[in-house]
Amino acid sequence: EKKILGASAKDLTPSYDWFQTDSLITIVIYTKQKDMNAELVIVDCQDKQLRGEIIVDDHSYLVEIGLDHAVQGDVAVNIAEKIGKVEITLKKKDNIHWKMLGQHLESHNTFIKRTDRGLFYRKCKLISKTEVTHDTKLLCLMLPESTHLHVPTGQHVYLKQIIAGTEVVKPYTPVLPFLPLDLKEPSRHDGAYIYLMIKIYSCGLFTQALDHLQIGDYISVSNPEGNFKKSQVQTSEDLFLLAAGTGFTPMVKLLSCALTEVSCLRTVKLIFFNKTEDDILWRNQLEQLALKDERFEVQFVLSQPTKDWVGKQGKISLSLLSEFVKRSKKDSKVLICICGPTPFTEQGVQYLKDLGYSQEEIHAFTA
Ligand code: FAD
Ligand code: NAD
Repeated sequence: EKKILGASAKDLTPSYDWFQTDSLITIVIYTKQKDMNAELVIVDCQDKQLRGEIIVDDHSYLVEIGLDHAVQGDVAVNIAEKIGKVEITLKKKDNIHWKMLGQHLESHNTFIKRTDRGLFYRKCKLISKTEVTHDTKLLCLMLPESTHLHVPTGQHVYLKQIIAGTEVVKPYTPVLPFLPLDLKEPSRHDGAYIYLMIKIYSCGLFTQALDHLQIGDYISVSNPEGNFKKSQVQTSEDLFLLAAGTGFTPMVKLLSCALTEVSCLRTVKLIFFNKTEDDILWRNQLEQLALKDERFEVQFVLSQPTKDWVGKQGKISLSLLSEFVKRSKKDSKVLICICGPTPFTEQGVQYLKDLGYSQEEIHAFTA
Protein backbone atom coordinates (compact mmCIF):
# COMPACT_ATOMS: atom_id res chain seq x y z
CA GLU A 1 0.00 0.00 0.00
CA LYS A 2 1.40 3.36 -1.02
CA LYS A 3 1.46 6.18 1.47
CA ILE A 4 0.90 9.74 0.35
CA LEU A 5 3.00 12.14 2.33
CA GLY A 6 0.89 14.53 4.36
CA ALA A 7 1.49 18.27 4.49
CA SER A 8 4.09 19.21 7.03
CA ALA A 9 3.93 22.41 9.04
CA LYS A 10 6.54 23.96 6.77
CA ASP A 11 4.21 23.64 3.78
CA LEU A 12 1.90 26.22 5.32
CA THR A 13 4.34 29.00 4.46
CA PRO A 14 2.94 30.97 1.52
CA SER A 15 4.97 31.17 -1.65
CA TYR A 16 5.00 33.43 -4.69
CA ASP A 17 5.73 33.52 -8.37
CA TRP A 18 5.55 36.16 -11.10
CA PHE A 19 4.99 36.49 -14.82
CA GLN A 20 4.70 39.24 -17.41
CA THR A 21 2.94 40.27 -20.59
CA ASP A 22 3.96 43.17 -22.84
CA SER A 23 2.27 45.68 -20.55
CA LEU A 24 1.71 43.95 -17.19
CA ILE A 25 3.60 42.40 -14.32
CA THR A 26 1.66 39.94 -12.20
CA ILE A 27 2.83 38.63 -8.84
CA VAL A 28 0.95 35.58 -7.63
CA ILE A 29 0.94 34.64 -3.97
CA TYR A 30 -0.21 31.16 -2.97
CA THR A 31 -1.33 31.78 0.59
CA LYS A 32 -2.40 28.16 1.32
CA GLN A 33 -5.43 29.64 3.12
CA LYS A 34 -8.94 28.55 2.20
CA ASP A 35 -10.69 31.68 3.43
CA MET A 36 -8.64 34.52 2.02
CA ASN A 37 -10.36 37.89 1.76
CA ALA A 38 -9.55 41.48 0.83
CA GLU A 39 -8.93 42.48 4.45
CA LEU A 40 -6.03 40.04 4.71
CA VAL A 41 -4.08 41.58 1.83
CA ILE A 42 -2.19 44.88 2.13
CA VAL A 43 -0.29 46.11 -0.89
CA ASP A 44 1.78 49.26 -1.42
CA CYS A 45 3.88 50.27 -4.37
CA GLN A 46 5.89 53.47 -4.24
CA ASP A 47 9.10 54.56 -5.92
CA LYS A 48 9.63 51.16 -7.57
CA GLN A 49 9.27 49.43 -4.18
CA LEU A 50 6.59 46.79 -3.95
CA ARG A 51 5.36 45.59 -0.56
CA GLY A 52 2.67 42.92 -0.37
CA GLU A 53 1.66 41.62 3.04
CA ILE A 54 -0.63 38.65 3.60
CA ILE A 55 -2.17 38.07 7.03
CA VAL A 56 -2.45 34.38 7.92
CA ASP A 57 -3.98 34.08 11.40
CA ASP A 58 -1.39 35.59 13.74
CA HIS A 59 1.33 35.43 11.09
CA SER A 60 2.37 37.72 8.28
CA TYR A 61 3.89 36.80 4.92
CA LEU A 62 5.74 39.49 3.01
CA VAL A 63 6.78 40.04 -0.57
CA GLU A 64 9.12 43.03 -0.64
CA ILE A 65 10.92 43.90 -3.84
CA GLY A 66 12.80 46.80 -5.36
CA LEU A 67 11.32 46.54 -8.87
CA ASP A 68 13.67 46.29 -11.83
CA HIS A 69 11.77 48.92 -13.86
CA ALA A 70 9.24 51.67 -13.28
CA VAL A 71 5.50 50.93 -13.07
CA GLN A 72 2.42 53.14 -13.32
CA GLY A 73 0.52 54.49 -10.30
CA ASP A 74 -2.35 52.09 -9.87
CA VAL A 75 -2.18 48.56 -8.50
CA ALA A 76 -4.85 45.88 -8.94
CA VAL A 77 -5.40 43.11 -6.41
CA ASN A 78 -7.40 40.01 -7.26
CA ILE A 79 -8.22 37.35 -4.72
CA ALA A 80 -9.42 33.83 -5.43
CA GLU A 81 -10.93 33.45 -1.96
CA LYS A 82 -11.60 29.71 -1.97
CA ILE A 83 -8.20 28.62 -3.23
CA GLY A 84 -6.32 31.37 -1.43
CA LYS A 85 -4.54 32.79 -4.45
CA VAL A 86 -3.71 36.51 -4.45
CA GLU A 87 -2.73 38.27 -7.67
CA ILE A 88 -1.10 41.69 -7.66
CA THR A 89 -1.04 43.32 -11.08
CA LEU A 90 1.18 46.27 -11.94
CA LYS A 91 1.25 48.20 -15.22
CA LYS A 92 4.68 48.62 -16.80
CA LYS A 93 5.64 52.20 -17.52
CA ASP A 94 7.49 51.08 -20.66
CA ASN A 95 6.51 48.00 -22.62
CA ILE A 96 9.84 46.27 -22.34
CA HIS A 97 10.72 42.73 -21.31
CA TRP A 98 11.86 42.48 -17.66
CA LYS A 99 14.76 40.06 -17.17
CA MET A 100 13.96 39.84 -13.47
CA LEU A 101 11.29 41.12 -11.07
CA GLY A 102 13.84 43.07 -9.02
CA GLN A 103 16.01 43.06 -5.91
CA HIS A 104 14.79 41.22 -2.86
CA LEU A 105 14.52 43.66 0.04
CA GLU A 106 15.34 42.90 3.66
CA SER A 107 12.10 41.19 4.73
CA HIS A 108 11.26 39.62 1.39
CA ASN A 109 9.69 36.15 1.49
CA THR A 110 9.52 36.01 5.29
CA PHE A 111 6.68 34.42 7.28
CA ILE A 112 6.76 35.66 10.85
CA LYS A 113 4.51 36.52 13.81
CA ARG A 114 2.37 39.57 13.03
CA THR A 115 3.55 41.26 16.20
CA ASP A 116 7.17 40.98 15.03
CA ARG A 117 6.43 42.75 11.74
CA GLY A 118 7.04 46.51 12.12
CA LEU A 119 4.20 48.87 11.24
CA PHE A 120 4.28 50.15 7.69
CA TYR A 121 3.07 53.68 6.93
CA ARG A 122 1.93 55.32 3.71
CA LYS A 123 1.03 58.97 3.19
CA CYS A 124 -2.67 59.71 2.79
CA LYS A 125 -4.24 62.94 1.58
CA LEU A 126 -6.71 64.85 3.75
CA ILE A 127 -9.81 65.19 1.57
CA SER A 128 -12.32 66.73 3.96
CA LYS A 129 -12.91 67.75 7.56
CA THR A 130 -16.49 68.08 8.82
CA GLU A 131 -17.86 68.94 12.25
CA VAL A 132 -19.58 66.20 14.21
CA THR A 133 -19.92 68.11 17.50
CA HIS A 134 -18.36 71.24 19.05
CA ASP A 135 -15.02 69.42 19.53
CA THR A 136 -15.15 66.34 17.30
CA LYS A 137 -14.46 66.14 13.57
CA LEU A 138 -14.87 63.58 10.83
CA LEU A 139 -11.75 63.42 8.67
CA CYS A 140 -11.70 61.75 5.28
CA LEU A 141 -8.29 60.48 4.15
CA MET A 142 -7.56 59.15 0.69
CA LEU A 143 -5.23 56.20 0.28
CA PRO A 144 -2.72 56.33 -2.59
CA GLU A 145 -3.82 54.65 -5.86
CA SER A 146 -1.03 52.19 -5.39
CA THR A 147 -2.28 51.01 -1.99
CA HIS A 148 -4.71 48.18 -1.30
CA LEU A 149 -5.86 48.34 2.34
CA HIS A 150 -9.19 47.63 4.06
CA VAL A 151 -9.43 48.26 7.79
CA PRO A 152 -11.39 45.37 9.37
CA THR A 153 -14.25 45.96 11.81
CA GLY A 154 -12.91 46.47 15.34
CA GLN A 155 -9.37 47.36 14.27
CA HIS A 156 -7.50 50.64 14.49
CA VAL A 157 -4.68 52.33 12.57
CA TYR A 158 -1.87 54.57 13.79
CA LEU A 159 -1.38 58.11 12.54
CA LYS A 160 2.12 59.56 12.57
CA GLN A 161 3.15 63.22 12.53
CA ILE A 162 6.37 65.07 13.23
CA ILE A 163 5.55 67.53 16.00
CA ALA A 164 8.24 70.03 17.01
CA GLY A 165 10.88 67.79 15.47
CA THR A 166 9.70 64.61 17.20
CA GLU A 167 7.83 61.70 15.62
CA VAL A 168 4.49 61.20 17.43
CA VAL A 169 2.18 58.22 16.85
CA LYS A 170 -1.42 57.74 18.10
CA PRO A 171 -4.09 55.11 17.40
CA TYR A 172 -7.48 55.92 15.82
CA THR A 173 -10.40 53.66 14.87
CA PRO A 174 -11.80 54.15 11.36
CA VAL A 175 -15.56 54.65 11.09
CA LEU A 176 -17.99 54.85 8.15
CA PRO A 177 -18.99 58.18 6.57
CA PHE A 178 -22.45 57.67 8.17
CA LEU A 179 -24.56 54.94 9.75
CA PRO A 180 -26.26 52.61 7.26
CA LEU A 181 -29.93 53.57 7.13
CA ASP A 182 -30.69 51.48 4.10
CA LEU A 183 -30.21 48.17 5.80
CA LYS A 184 -30.96 45.99 2.81
CA GLU A 185 -27.76 47.12 1.14
CA PRO A 186 -24.67 45.75 2.87
CA SER A 187 -22.45 48.78 3.42
CA ARG A 188 -20.06 49.14 0.53
CA HIS A 189 -17.06 51.32 0.87
CA ASP A 190 -14.65 50.87 -1.98
CA GLY A 191 -11.54 50.95 0.15
CA ALA A 192 -10.09 54.14 -1.31
CA TYR A 193 -10.98 56.25 1.73
CA ILE A 194 -10.50 56.05 5.48
CA TYR A 195 -12.89 58.00 7.73
CA LEU A 196 -11.79 58.98 11.22
CA MET A 197 -13.90 60.60 13.94
CA ILE A 198 -11.50 62.51 16.15
CA LYS A 199 -12.04 64.59 19.26
CA ILE A 200 -9.78 67.66 19.29
CA TYR A 201 -8.51 68.34 22.83
CA SER A 202 -7.61 71.96 23.58
CA CYS A 203 -4.35 70.81 25.21
CA GLY A 204 -3.92 67.67 23.13
CA LEU A 205 -0.50 67.25 21.55
CA PHE A 206 -1.51 65.16 18.56
CA THR A 207 -5.08 66.35 17.98
CA GLN A 208 -4.04 70.02 17.97
CA ALA A 209 -1.51 69.26 15.22
CA LEU A 210 -4.17 67.24 13.34
CA ASP A 211 -6.61 70.12 13.58
CA HIS A 212 -4.06 72.36 11.88
CA LEU A 213 -3.77 70.11 8.82
CA GLN A 214 -5.20 71.71 5.68
CA ILE A 215 -7.25 70.00 3.01
CA GLY A 216 -4.74 68.51 0.55
CA ASP A 217 -2.08 67.96 3.22
CA TYR A 218 -0.68 64.46 3.78
CA ILE A 219 -0.47 62.33 6.92
CA SER A 220 1.09 58.90 7.50
CA VAL A 221 -1.34 56.04 8.18
CA SER A 222 -0.25 52.58 9.36
CA ASN A 223 -1.49 49.09 8.65
CA PRO A 224 -4.47 48.01 10.79
CA GLU A 225 -4.04 46.35 14.16
CA GLY A 226 -6.31 44.92 16.82
CA ASN A 227 -7.50 41.63 18.22
CA PHE A 228 -11.24 41.84 17.57
CA LYS A 229 -12.60 38.94 15.49
CA LYS A 230 -15.68 39.56 13.37
CA SER A 231 -16.68 35.91 13.88
CA GLN A 232 -17.55 36.84 17.49
CA VAL A 233 -20.46 38.95 16.18
CA GLN A 234 -21.45 36.63 13.37
CA THR A 235 -22.72 33.97 15.78
CA SER A 236 -24.29 36.22 18.40
CA GLU A 237 -28.01 36.62 19.08
CA ASP A 238 -27.80 39.59 21.47
CA LEU A 239 -25.21 42.30 20.96
CA PHE A 240 -24.65 44.90 23.69
CA LEU A 241 -22.43 47.90 22.98
CA LEU A 242 -21.14 50.02 25.86
CA ALA A 243 -19.44 53.22 24.67
CA ALA A 244 -18.15 56.38 26.36
CA GLY A 245 -17.13 59.50 24.41
CA THR A 246 -15.01 58.67 21.37
CA GLY A 247 -15.14 55.05 22.55
CA PHE A 248 -18.11 55.10 20.18
CA THR A 249 -15.79 54.79 17.14
CA PRO A 250 -15.32 50.99 17.08
CA MET A 251 -19.09 50.60 17.51
CA VAL A 252 -19.81 52.24 14.13
CA LYS A 253 -18.56 49.44 11.86
CA LEU A 254 -19.67 46.88 14.42
CA LEU A 255 -23.26 48.17 14.34
CA SER A 256 -23.26 48.27 10.58
CA CYS A 257 -21.83 44.76 10.29
CA ALA A 258 -24.27 43.37 12.88
CA LEU A 259 -27.40 44.90 11.37
CA THR A 260 -26.56 44.13 7.75
CA GLU A 261 -24.68 40.83 7.87
CA VAL A 262 -25.70 38.83 10.95
CA SER A 263 -28.93 36.91 10.40
CA CYS A 264 -29.15 35.24 13.82
CA LEU A 265 -29.12 38.58 15.65
CA ARG A 266 -32.27 39.41 17.64
CA THR A 267 -31.26 42.52 19.59
CA VAL A 268 -28.57 45.17 19.34
CA LYS A 269 -28.43 47.67 22.18
CA LEU A 270 -26.09 50.63 22.50
CA ILE A 271 -25.65 52.44 25.82
CA PHE A 272 -23.73 55.62 25.17
CA PHE A 273 -22.10 57.60 28.03
CA ASN A 274 -21.22 61.26 27.57
CA LYS A 275 -20.73 64.34 29.68
CA THR A 276 -23.39 66.55 28.09
CA GLU A 277 -26.00 66.40 25.32
CA ASP A 278 -23.71 68.46 23.07
CA ASP A 279 -21.06 65.74 23.31
CA ILE A 280 -23.24 62.95 21.89
CA LEU A 281 -21.78 61.79 18.58
CA TRP A 282 -24.22 61.09 15.72
CA ARG A 283 -27.21 61.30 18.09
CA ASN A 284 -29.65 62.01 15.29
CA GLN A 285 -28.35 59.15 13.13
CA LEU A 286 -28.54 56.74 16.05
CA GLU A 287 -32.13 57.74 16.79
CA GLN A 288 -33.05 57.38 13.11
CA LEU A 289 -31.47 53.95 13.01
CA ALA A 290 -33.42 52.87 16.10
CA LEU A 291 -36.66 53.97 14.41
CA LYS A 292 -35.77 52.16 11.21
CA ASP A 293 -34.60 48.85 12.65
CA GLU A 294 -36.63 47.35 15.46
CA ARG A 295 -33.74 45.14 16.57
CA PHE A 296 -31.73 48.24 17.47
CA GLU A 297 -32.15 50.33 20.62
CA VAL A 298 -30.05 53.24 21.88
CA GLN A 299 -29.84 54.81 25.32
CA PHE A 300 -27.89 57.94 26.27
CA VAL A 301 -26.48 58.48 29.76
CA LEU A 302 -25.04 61.85 30.77
CA SER A 303 -22.54 62.46 33.57
CA GLN A 304 -22.92 66.27 33.53
CA PRO A 305 -26.49 66.90 32.30
CA THR A 306 -28.30 70.22 32.42
CA LYS A 307 -31.41 70.25 34.60
CA ASP A 308 -33.77 69.77 31.66
CA TRP A 309 -32.27 66.37 30.71
CA VAL A 310 -34.97 63.76 31.23
CA GLY A 311 -32.84 60.73 30.29
CA LYS A 312 -30.51 58.64 32.43
CA GLN A 313 -27.74 60.30 34.44
CA GLY A 314 -24.50 59.30 36.07
CA LYS A 315 -21.56 57.11 35.17
CA ILE A 316 -21.28 53.41 34.49
CA SER A 317 -22.59 51.40 37.46
CA LEU A 318 -23.63 47.89 38.39
CA SER A 319 -27.30 48.81 38.67
CA LEU A 320 -27.34 50.53 35.27
CA LEU A 321 -25.68 47.56 33.59
CA SER A 322 -27.78 44.90 35.30
CA GLU A 323 -30.84 46.57 33.83
CA PHE A 324 -29.33 47.17 30.40
CA VAL A 325 -27.48 43.92 29.68
CA LYS A 326 -30.22 41.30 29.76
CA ARG A 327 -30.42 38.26 27.50
CA SER A 328 -33.45 38.38 25.18
CA LYS A 329 -33.91 34.65 25.85
CA LYS A 330 -32.64 32.45 28.65
CA ASP A 331 -29.85 30.85 26.61
CA SER A 332 -29.15 33.62 24.11
CA LYS A 333 -25.64 33.79 22.76
CA VAL A 334 -24.41 37.19 23.90
CA LEU A 335 -21.55 39.47 22.91
CA ILE A 336 -20.82 42.60 24.95
CA CYS A 337 -18.37 45.15 23.54
CA ILE A 338 -17.01 48.00 25.61
CA CYS A 339 -14.88 51.03 24.75
CA GLY A 340 -14.03 54.36 26.35
CA PRO A 341 -11.59 55.94 28.79
CA THR A 342 -9.49 53.24 30.49
CA PRO A 343 -11.16 53.55 33.95
CA PHE A 344 -14.58 53.31 32.26
CA THR A 345 -13.61 50.15 30.37
CA GLU A 346 -11.98 48.53 33.40
CA GLN A 347 -14.94 49.25 35.68
CA GLY A 348 -17.37 48.09 33.01
CA VAL A 349 -15.59 44.77 32.53
CA GLN A 350 -15.53 44.21 36.29
CA TYR A 351 -19.29 44.89 36.60
CA LEU A 352 -20.03 42.53 33.72
CA LYS A 353 -18.03 39.79 35.42
CA ASP A 354 -19.88 40.52 38.68
CA LEU A 355 -23.12 40.06 36.73
CA GLY A 356 -21.95 36.59 35.67
CA TYR A 357 -20.84 37.21 32.09
CA SER A 358 -17.83 35.16 31.00
CA GLN A 359 -14.58 36.35 29.43
CA GLU A 360 -15.69 34.95 26.06
CA GLU A 361 -18.85 37.04 26.13
CA ILE A 362 -16.98 40.32 26.68
CA HIS A 363 -14.73 42.20 24.28
CA ALA A 364 -12.95 45.29 25.60
CA PHE A 365 -11.35 47.61 23.04
CA THR A 366 -7.98 48.82 24.29
CA ALA A 367 -4.65 49.84 22.78
P1 FAD B 1 -2.89 64.22 24.76
O1 FAD B 1 -1.87 65.28 24.56
O2 FAD B 1 -2.41 62.86 25.02
O3 FAD B 1 -3.97 64.65 25.86
C1 FAD B 1 -5.40 64.60 25.62
C2 FAD B 1 -6.20 65.35 26.65
O4 FAD B 1 -6.35 64.54 27.79
C3 FAD B 1 -5.57 66.63 27.07
O5 FAD B 1 -6.60 67.54 27.36
C4 FAD B 1 -4.77 66.22 28.30
O6 FAD B 1 -4.69 67.29 29.19
C5 FAD B 1 -5.64 65.11 28.86
N1 FAD B 1 -4.91 63.94 29.40
C6 FAD B 1 -3.76 63.39 28.95
N2 FAD B 1 -3.43 62.32 29.67
C7 FAD B 1 -4.41 62.17 30.59
C8 FAD B 1 -4.67 61.24 31.62
N3 FAD B 1 -3.84 60.20 31.86
N4 FAD B 1 -5.78 61.39 32.36
C9 FAD B 1 -6.62 62.41 32.14
N5 FAD B 1 -6.45 63.33 31.17
C10 FAD B 1 -5.36 63.19 30.43
N6 FAD B 1 -9.57 59.11 19.78
C11 FAD B 1 -10.46 59.64 18.92
O7 FAD B 1 -10.78 60.84 19.00
N7 FAD B 1 -11.01 58.85 17.92
C12 FAD B 1 -10.70 57.54 17.78
O8 FAD B 1 -11.21 56.87 16.85
C13 FAD B 1 -9.75 56.96 18.70
N8 FAD B 1 -9.40 55.65 18.60
C14 FAD B 1 -8.51 55.13 19.50
C15 FAD B 1 -8.16 53.77 19.42
C16 FAD B 1 -7.32 53.21 20.36
C17 FAD B 1 -6.95 51.75 20.24
C18 FAD B 1 -6.83 54.01 21.43
C19 FAD B 1 -5.94 53.41 22.47
C20 FAD B 1 -7.13 55.37 21.49
C21 FAD B 1 -7.97 55.95 20.55
N9 FAD B 1 -8.27 57.30 20.58
C22 FAD B 1 -9.20 57.81 19.70
C23 FAD B 1 -7.53 58.24 21.45
C24 FAD B 1 -6.30 58.81 20.70
O9 FAD B 1 -5.37 57.79 20.43
C25 FAD B 1 -5.55 59.90 21.50
O10 FAD B 1 -5.26 59.43 22.78
C26 FAD B 1 -6.33 61.19 21.59
O11 FAD B 1 -6.59 61.69 20.28
C27 FAD B 1 -5.60 62.27 22.39
O12 FAD B 1 -4.38 62.55 21.80
P2 FAD B 1 -3.64 63.95 22.02
O13 FAD B 1 -2.19 63.75 21.74
O14 FAD B 1 -4.32 65.04 21.29
O15 FAD B 1 -3.88 64.23 23.54
P1 NAD C 1 -15.12 62.05 28.02
O1 NAD C 1 -14.09 62.61 28.92
O2 NAD C 1 -15.93 63.00 27.21
O3 NAD C 1 -16.06 61.11 28.88
C1 NAD C 1 -17.18 60.44 28.32
C2 NAD C 1 -17.84 59.62 29.41
O4 NAD C 1 -16.96 58.59 29.84
C3 NAD C 1 -18.18 60.38 30.66
O5 NAD C 1 -19.40 61.07 30.53
C4 NAD C 1 -18.28 59.26 31.69
O6 NAD C 1 -19.53 58.61 31.64
C5 NAD C 1 -17.23 58.28 31.19
N1 NAD C 1 -16.01 58.40 31.99
C6 NAD C 1 -15.01 59.29 31.82
N2 NAD C 1 -14.09 59.12 32.76
C7 NAD C 1 -14.51 58.11 33.54
C8 NAD C 1 -13.97 57.47 34.70
N3 NAD C 1 -12.81 57.86 35.21
N4 NAD C 1 -14.68 56.45 35.23
C9 NAD C 1 -15.86 56.06 34.70
N5 NAD C 1 -16.41 56.64 33.64
C10 NAD C 1 -15.74 57.65 33.06
O7 NAD C 1 -14.45 60.98 27.03
P2 NAD C 1 -13.54 61.23 25.77
O8 NAD C 1 -12.71 62.46 25.98
O9 NAD C 1 -14.36 61.15 24.54
O10 NAD C 1 -12.54 60.01 25.83
C11 NAD C 1 -12.77 58.81 25.18
C12 NAD C 1 -11.70 57.82 25.56
O11 NAD C 1 -11.91 56.63 24.80
C13 NAD C 1 -10.27 58.26 25.33
O12 NAD C 1 -9.54 57.98 26.50
C14 NAD C 1 -9.80 57.37 24.20
O13 NAD C 1 -8.44 57.05 24.31
C15 NAD C 1 -10.65 56.14 24.37
N6 NAD C 1 -10.81 55.37 23.13
C16 NAD C 1 -10.28 54.13 23.11
C17 NAD C 1 -10.39 53.35 21.97
C18 NAD C 1 -9.79 51.97 21.98
O14 NAD C 1 -9.11 51.61 22.90
N7 NAD C 1 -9.98 51.15 20.97
C19 NAD C 1 -11.08 53.83 20.86
C20 NAD C 1 -11.63 55.11 20.92
C21 NAD C 1 -11.49 55.88 22.06
